Amino acid sequence: MITLEHIVAARARCDEVRRADKTVALVPTMGFFHEGHLTLMRTARAAHDLVVVSLFVNPTQFGPSEDLDAYPRDPEGDAKAAAGEGVDVLFAPTVAEMYPRPGLTTVTVSEVAKGLCGISRPHHFGGVATVVTKLFSIVGPCTAYFGKKDFQQLVVVRRLVEDLNLPIEVVGVSTVRERDGLAMSSRNAYLVPDERHAATVLFRALTAAIETMSGGERDASRVRAVAADLIVAEPMANLEYVEVVRADDLAPVDQLEDGVEHVIAMAVRIGTTRLIDNATFTIAAGSVNADLPSLDPL
Ligand code: AMP
Repeated sequence: MITLEHIVAARARCDEVRRADKTVALVPTMGFFHEGHLTLMRTARAAHDLVVVSLFVNPTQFGPSEDLDAYPRDPEGDAKAAAGEGVDVLFAPTVAEMYPRPGLTTVTVSEVAKGLCGISRPHHFGGVATVVTKLFSIVGPCTAYFGKKDFQQLVVVRRLVEDLNLPIEVVGVSTVRERDGLAMSSRNAYLVPDERHAATVLFRALTAAIETMSGGERDASRVRAVAADLIVAEPMANLEYVEVVRADDLAPVDQLEDGVEHVIAMAVRIGTTRLIDNATFTIAAGSVNADLPSLDPL
């Protein structure tokens, strides 16, 4: 694996590989790798000739009162972990390399970026859309891997690729979880032991919502209420939102329709740590097919 800090070098390596009729995969990350990141790398490695992982904590997607400075970092551990997955290029630019001066050009994806996390983080998806567009421009035509854990981000990226005709294939990868169901996240490192235990409420709420639908419930507000009630009952948790929306455009729904992919998505604060989680599901012939594992007995 080579580590590259410079845009011209990363672009040159990707161009060279494509000229030899080989394929390029990109896995954008902010580092502090866990099994979720490594699964994206592995999935990319299995399907492509050159795997590029970008490691960049993008300041423009953090709000002024958010955790940019505290965001966990481990560049050496990350480099070892990425090399262990057979990654070819770790693209780790500095902030000055990515933003030599304040950008006058930004990418705004409307509608799908407005609800859910967009309500409490109004500038977040603008920052994400802009940096992802820059990464796509640097790496060039490729297959880009994103986690479903950040489902709204995945929808925003799919939409910007479609609207701007970018030569990028976007692949969404299922959420990797701890044994007790907690979705892996770099921010889980903030949780003290009591909070870590309370944080399982997100997975429990998703599971209860899916079970309610399996029992025949089709009213989205009642499904939502089942999840919300569980979270509100957890003393260490503060519910920011839980919503049931359509998976392709994140539009709110009243009645769950057969054959349509939906997502139940939530943001919950555990102490000062903001966690998100979701499950996609489709109802067909009376049964609910959800992208949510049942747990192994502990
Ligand atoms: P981040 O470093 O948090 O920006 O995440 C980089 C990529 O890894 C994003 O596409 C995330 O959606 C994805 N990711 C983060 N956590 C998980 C997880 N638990 N399972 C699958 N993908 C994940």
